[in-house]
Amino acid sequence: MFGIWGAPSSDSGAAASFAALGLHALQHRGQEAAGITSWDGAAFHTHRAMGHVAGTFDRADIIRALPGRVAMGHVRYSTSGDSALRNVQPLFAELASGGFAIAHNGNISNALKLRRELNRRGSIFQSTSDTEVIIHLVATSNYRTLLDKFIDALKQVEGAYSLVCMTPEGMIACRDPLGIRPLVLGKLDGAFIFASETVALDVVGAEFLRSVEPGEMIIVSDRGFRSHRPFAPVPPRPCIFEHVYFSRPDSIVDGTSVYDVRKNIGAELARESPVEADIVVPVPDSGVPAAIGYAQASGIPFELGIIRSHYVGRTFIQPSDGVRNLSVKMKHNANSALIRGKRIVLIDDSIVRGTTSLKIVQMMRDAGAAEVHFRVASPPTRHSCFYGVDTPERANLLAAQMDVVAMTEFIHADSLAFVSIEGLYRAMGEVARDPMRPQHCDACFTGDYPTSLTDEDEAAPRDQFSLLQERVAS
Ligand code: SF4
Repeated sequence: MFGIWGAPSSDSGAAASFAALGLHALQHRGQEAAGITSWDGAAFHTHRAMGHVAGTFDRADIIRALPGRVAMGHVRYSTSGDSALRNVQPLFAELASGGFAIAHNGNISNALKLRRELNRRGSIFQSTSDTEVIIHLVATSNYRTLLDKFIDALKQVEGAYSLVCMTPEGMIACRDPLGIRPLVLGKLDGAFIFASETVALDVVGAEFLRSVEPGEMIIVSDRGFRSHRPFAPVPPRPCIFEHVYFSRPDSIVDGTSVYDVRKNIGAELARESPVEADIVVPVPDSGVPAAIGYAQASGIPFELGIIRSHYVGRTFIQPSDGVRNLSVKMKHNANSALIRGKRIVLIDDSIVRGTTSLKIVQMMRDAGAAEVHFRVASPPTRHSCFYGVDTPERANLLAAQMDVVAMTEFIHADSLAFVSIEGLYRAMGEVARDPMRPQHCDACFTGDYPTSLTDEDEAAPRDQFSLLQERVAS
């Protein structure tokens, strides 16, 4: 998400062009679709489209059609659920108080239950997105002011939400009480900016002021800046996976450099799971910082044994199964002259289904590696995420089905090791994980979910909202 109030130019589309740049820097957070809504002081304007930010918002005619010094945007994560345009954010509604645009990062874990209640009370939904539940809760709240209605709505939702909302009175940014998903505040020549990661501030030349704190609601307008704490304080549980994989390595998340944490994880791995080897090879790009950390801590040279092509499109048409099996080589190719005869420590950020890991190990063997030792910069992913990261259901998570010995055989590695959960916390700068009150959400590794999973508990078998919403739609 990216929002800007008071863009430092009166050119038509000024705020929208900042939003487009910011969203481009956040493209890794969602590649399915993108949208921008602007406010020109009299009316809201929206453009939403499937596909990447570039390809839609690099067009001058589209940016010019989003006038005003206020704008917000969103990139949508690719899920197995309904990918229709109606779910692309920002979502917009004309409420009794005026226009209301909302963008959401996260997942509401009681959205189905709330939706059923709202349906019974007469609400008619335009999308199958969990985010629309918030709009209807605001619209039907008995409180008087928009801010009170909004707070009333948020007190009914469970799960993860970082939100940016735009109204004629101001832009509202909010992080759920646990602070599961990130959100930062920046400033540019008198304009306030909210963004999911600091890289979006960097790219527009804004100054990073601070993170929006868990449970904090910030309202910016032409009258300035106000901070509210509408929720009862609880110990925060920000997502640890942002540091392992999701955020860009050049971002600062909750005061910590993502790059530094990833290097620290690699160093922890080297200490916990050493191995005699000739070179350390990252699976690019996400395994690179951890591989640097592993190499520095172990003294084994870091080498680029796999080269990644940056030109592989997700929609590449593959005419047959035989060709599809070659697709991994289109994205990653072994640097054979380097690999031949070497004992390799291969570093990746995680193992999810295991199919990519299997192909990468095979690629190293085909290139003549003498031994392939796989080291993973996260603990085994044994549980699904219900807070906005698109992990598959448990049946498709390799580590939920097998122990490490069986996984080693499955991916055909000579050895396999994961960083421990304690090692991950040490890499984050913590002395240890507090088992009574973990400092982060780490549920995909531990199964210790920090909120109720109301929709999941009502459903059997367990599913993600993106799948359940299909049933709501049908
Ligand atoms: S379950 Fe995992 S990916 Fe999801 S919020 Fe928690 S730590 Fe992050």
